[in-house]
Amino acid sequence: MARIIKKFGGTSVGDVDRIQNVARLIKEDHDKGNQIVVVVSARSGVTNDLINRAKAINRNPADREMDMLLVAGEQETIALTAMALQALGVDAVSLTGAMAGIKTDPYHTRARIVSMDCRTLIEHLDSNRVVIVAGFQGAGEQGQITTLGRGGSDLSAIALAKGVDADLCQIYTDVEGVYTADPRIVPKARKLPEISYEEMLELASLGTKVMQARSVEFSNKFNVPFEVRSSFKNKPGTIVKEEVSSMEDVVVRGVALDKNQAKVMVANIPDKPGTAARVFRSLSEANVVVDMIVQNIGRNGVANLTFTVPRDDTHRASQAVEEVLQELGGGKVTLVGDIAKLSVVGVGMRTHSGVASQLFSALSDAEVNIQLISTSEIKISVVINENESDHAIRAVHSAFGLDVE
Ligand code: ASP
Ligand code: MG
Repeated sequence: MARIIKKFGGTSVGDVDRIQNVARLIKEDHDKGNQIVVVVSARSGVTNDLINRAKAINRNPADREMDMLLVAGEQETIALTAMALQALGVDAVSLTGAMAGIKTDPYHTRARIVSMDCRTLIEHLDSNRVVIVAGFQGAGEQGQITTLGRGGSDLSAIALAKGVDADLCQIYTDVEGVYTADPRIVPKARKLPEISYEEMLELASLGTKVMQARSVEFSNKFNVPFEVRSSFKNKPGTIVKEEVSSMEDVVVRGVALDKNQAKVMVANIPDKPGTAARVFRSLSEANVVVDMIVQNIGRNGVANLTFTVPRDDTHRASQAVEEVLQELGGGKVTLVGDIAKLSVVGVGMRTHSGVASQLFSALSDAEVNIQLISTSEIKISVVINENESDHAIRAVHSAFGLDVE
């Protein structure tokens, strides 16, 4: 007997047929004598619909009311999934996040899990009941309903795996696993049998939207291995787990493309201590997350600063910089929207050299110009033109020997 967490995303429970399909899949594993906890998302599109309705009524809805509204999506699917199992003769019970013991801090729409009390849930399991938990939600200390950020059902699943000490955590989704690159852009991408938490985290935060980045951070912190697999094809997926030394044999595990960035160039600002601090303080006060930063060497007392921000925040970013420029009495902001960030990721970079030069040669062979470069221990990123980016990622994927034969 094993204790298994199974998480199904929005497309996997998108309509009645799919919910019945999910119920059959659960029953199969339950019939083998396993204890099963199911975590479900809202049907795909439902959360976005609810957000749009809220915004149509109030341009700036209160976070508390947003949480109250959005949890409705998951509440629908837990009840329907429990009913579908009951229709197959399986004893099943649905629980909200709060009932499942997910306790969070009080920050609405982006709450963090502070503790788990899974005693009630485990009692249900010990009574041979399948437990269906609403993903994405928890409760604060006063019982207030909170949500865990977009895509937060993944986090619910990983946290529950830790909370009930599960033997296996399976994230069922509409892709077959984690690939060396997005197969929609790189047809020769390969499915990876395994990947380390850290690599997955880089890929998750780099526009390869297989999973919510926060949930991967959590799994890394608490060492909760999990599998990403398809809910439509019964095949092994990708195991995400602690790094083992053999993983370093592969230098580049995957290539990611983030087309959701914009470049902000600030020209002619005073080349003296404190300028960058003022610019970035203003950006952080405007809640803009800055990614890559490059400053050139100052000349004649002035310098240029370039950085990237999420594309949705471009307007806020330029306003924040304009404010500082007014105080400084000079300088100019230019925005460039059509960029993409291409990154190669792999724990093998810690022990292998020459990855950067190989990447730059591949891009130069493909005649793609590099605008910005940044590196970390297991990742190298470059900013390039968006309209060359699909071509660029295919070239890089191939250059690092990742293409499927
Ligand atoms: N329904 C929520 C969302 O769309 C949570 C999730 O699907 O994981 O963000
Ligand atoms: Mg999701």
